[in-house]
Amino acid sequence: MTRQGLTTQLVHLDRKNSSIEHGAVHSPTTNSVLFEYKNAQDIIDVFQGKKPGHVYSRSSSPSVSALQEMLCRLEKGAGALCFATGMGAISSTLLALLKQGDHIIVSRYLFGNTRSFMGTLESFGIHISYVDVTRLTEVIDAYQPNTRAVFCETIANPVTQVADVQSIGRYCKERDILFILDNTMTPSIIFDAKAMNVSLVLSSLTKYLSGHGNVLGGAVIDTGNYDWQHYPNIQQQYKVGDPIQWGLTQIKKKGLRDLGATLAPQSAHAISIGLETLALRIQKSCDNALKLATFLDNHEKIKNVFYPGLSHHPQHFLAREHFPQGYGAILSITLGEGIDLVEFLNALDLVICATHLGDNRTLALPVAATIYAENSADERKLMGIDDNMVRLSVGIEDIDDLVNDFSQALNKFNLPE
Ligand SMILES: *Cc1c(COP(=O)(O)O)cnc(C)c1O
Repeated sequence: MTRQGLTTQLVHLDRKNSSIEHGAVHSPTTNSVLFEYKNAQDIIDVFQGKKPGHVYSRSSSPSVSALQEMLCRLEKGAGALCFATGMGAISSTLLALLKQGDHIIVSRYLFGNTRSFMGTLESFGIHISYVDVTRLTEVIDAYQPNTRAVFCETIANPVTQVADVQSIGRYCKERDILFILDNTMTPSIIFDAKAMNVSLVLSSLTKYLSGHGNVLGGAVIDTGNYDWQHYPNIQQQYKVGDPIQWGLTQIKKKGLRDLGATLAPQSAHAISIGLETLALRIQKSCDNALKLATFLDNHEKIKNVFYPGLSHHPQHFLAREHFPQGYGAILSITLGEGIDLVEFLNALDLVICATHLGDNRTLALPVAATIYAENSADERKLMGIDDNMVRLSVGIEDIDDLVNDFSQALNKFNLPE
């Protein structure tokens, strides 16, 4: 049989599940925390991993398992594990896999809360080198004998630096180190992490994957690329069964079960509904973002536009290789002289001033004074964050309406004499 397209697979996956009842096309949302076993031997076997099954919904439940299967399809992976939030997925995964004295190489351009969590890891005795991941040489120079992993994001926000994922992936494979990629900005519809030698894909399901701004969630997906037999921190009791599952087994036990950032069944259902239209939404958002970026780039009242799809973007060439189907839907702008940041944002009518990204609606945020307010001016400068910078997360509205809204807002300001 020819392999079906991804959207076809995703919208038909639930109803093909043999245990689904009444001809329902969605997996039922099961709220039960506990699961009865008529034969006590079965609960023993499930606890010991000898049989599949659910025992307590902090670790697994049918609704979350159905979503995990969809995510696994999405990344053509070996397994997936969901969490209550993206941060839950990131923190649980790293805490489950790292030990005091380990070293990791981390992107200098990171989502702010992830950057903050890296500081927590450092306080627990994990050594971190922060590097410019747009350049492979910086990753190579940071390598140490105790380097366990490289961690980066595909396209960083707000300045949209593009990591050289392909080269880093090849290097990690040669060196046999784990490559952990936060792929929130570029879901697998527009970026094939597995083909780039990524070991673990991390994702905030809160963003594009659910898309509607009505649910929080996170996931880690094992692409199956990494051989866990070579990872020194897998505990003996988790070296059971196929080694391809060892990493996720340890993340499930030490991360999900012990730390407890479990995704709720209702949330799993809401996310799976969003996933059905992911391909349609992401394509539209990417198309809109490129058109809007081009419009703003040509506007005399905008000083700078940062978007990987623009030919003057420093990593445009890398972006073209990595994202042939669309450059994502995040862009940042710096306003021209004489345009007040707050007045400009207040002048936007359709575009919403809000934090969050990857929503169906277009959002604008003044980043320096909000999500980077905890950083010093020097740190912001190092990250390329200008005081006058606005981050845009482009949604699925009709493009003319977006262009008109920016146009009318900018028309309210006069260029300095
Ligand atoms: C939002 C985000 C996260 C955190 O996800 P939450 O679901 O909000 O916890 C992590 N990484 C990136 C790149 C994000 O944009």
